[in-house]
Amino acid sequence: MKIRFLGAAGTVTGSRYLIQEQGTRLLVDCGLFQGIKSIRSRNWKPFPVDPASIDAVVLTHAHLDHSGYLPRFMREGFHGHILCTAATRELADILLADSAHLQEEDARHANRHGYSKHHPAEPLYTIEDARKVMTQFRTVDFDKPFRIGPLTISLSPAGHILGSACVRVDKGSTSLTFSGDVGRPNDLIMRPPHALRDSDYLVLESTYGDRLHGSDNTREKLAGIVRDTVAHGGTLMIPAFAVGRAQAMTYLLSEMMAAHEIPDLPIYLDSPMAIDVADVLLRHSEEHRLDSGQCRAMAARITQVRTGDESRELTQIRYPKIIIAGAGMLNGGRILHHLQSFGGDSRNTLVITGYQAAGTRGYALLNGADHLRMYGMDVSIHCRIEQLDDLSAHADYQELMHWLQPLRAPRQTFITHGEPIASDSLRQKLVHEMGWPALAPEQGDEFELD
Ligand SMILES: [Zn+2]
Repeated sequence: MKIRFLGAAGTVTGSRYLIQEQGTRLLVDCGLFQGIKSIRSRNWKPFPVDPASIDAVVLTHAHLDHSGYLPRFMREGFHGHILCTAATRELADILLADSAHLQEEDARHANRHGYSKHHPAEPLYTIEDARKVMTQFRTVDFDKPFRIGPLTISLSPAGHILGSACVRVDKGSTSLTFSGDVGRPNDLIMRPPHALRDSDYLVLESTYGDRLHGSDNTREKLAGIVRDTVAHGGTLMIPAFAVGRAQAMTYLLSEMMAAHEIPDLPIYLDSPMAIDVADVLLRHSEEHRLDSGQCRAMAARITQVRTGDESRELTQIRYPKIIIAGAGMLNGGRILHHLQSFGGDSRNTLVITGYQAAGTRGYALLNGADHLRMYGMDVSIHCRIEQLDDLSAHADYQELMHWLQPLRAPRQTFITHGEPIASDSLRQKLVHEMGWPALAPEQGDEFELD
């Protein structure tokens, strides 16, 4: 069995791992490259092997950096099945449609304002492509092995988002496990990741390979931020990924209001996607911690904002309120027009709730940027910027090592899905503290596993 690293090597996005065995080709994850332009541009390069020659794709989970290349991949000739859990399929349906919509919108915007180098600017894929690729999805259950040619595959819960899985590939007596993105032992909503079985080879994520989540009491910190902002008559903007963070924030805020820890404020969930994801949450109650009463109480406090017009109307409302809108790293979506309207006023607060990749606007703001480029314009930012680090859906290095501790040392550990410093830091910890062999592969590296 051979593995080739076609993405998430030396970077945190674009997860794509090719496995080859006796003429069978399997791709684990088919993610979009996101972040700085030089990384995003990889989405436009031809795929290194003919997509038509890939037998199947297995997804660890639905986040776009793991699934967002699929419509393009299909357009380039991939016609096999895409295997994943039921919740991953439902979330991918929502996320891919939105990703396609954003790409079409960006291309239209660039054409209208002439700021693209390409004339005419074209989307990476269309809404029609995203709709078509969904017909190639087939769902599988957790812990029910299935076969692709000579390979036996099984998925176990990873606790990161709904449907998220660790993927194990067995060929004869050789085993290879992909951690996918790993959730946390004490997430607000998700149940903890299941224990892994011993494996000969392990591909391990390292998003938080060099960091620990803050020991702040998130609930107290958020309550303080909300009370301060309201006292100044300000608005809270919360950029959140539609999957995961948006639900954690609506749950936390509605709980705090019910307990009178913060004033009753309108909470606008300005994301048709996050609204749809709430339905997926209800359908997959076995994967999360909330009971139906908690789900109903959360829904009752939310004002759903579906249309773009309704969203723009929010920018005219000057009284204190909370707006939760995508995208999580401010690299697109409705949060941008809220930031354009409310970001210049020091009474307002932007609450960043998760990891911000290098090159994103969220990353720039956390590093002190006082203006942002958006829609081809410069926008001054004077609002307060706060970060809640503890809401991350990724295990930090201590949580990862604690999760791995019971395992026999693999013959090799491949550290991926991290900025180079984070990956190397986790590599060193595995080598020195656990005595495991570990390396961080580079883009395009190939290894024989036997
Ligand atoms: Zn993820």
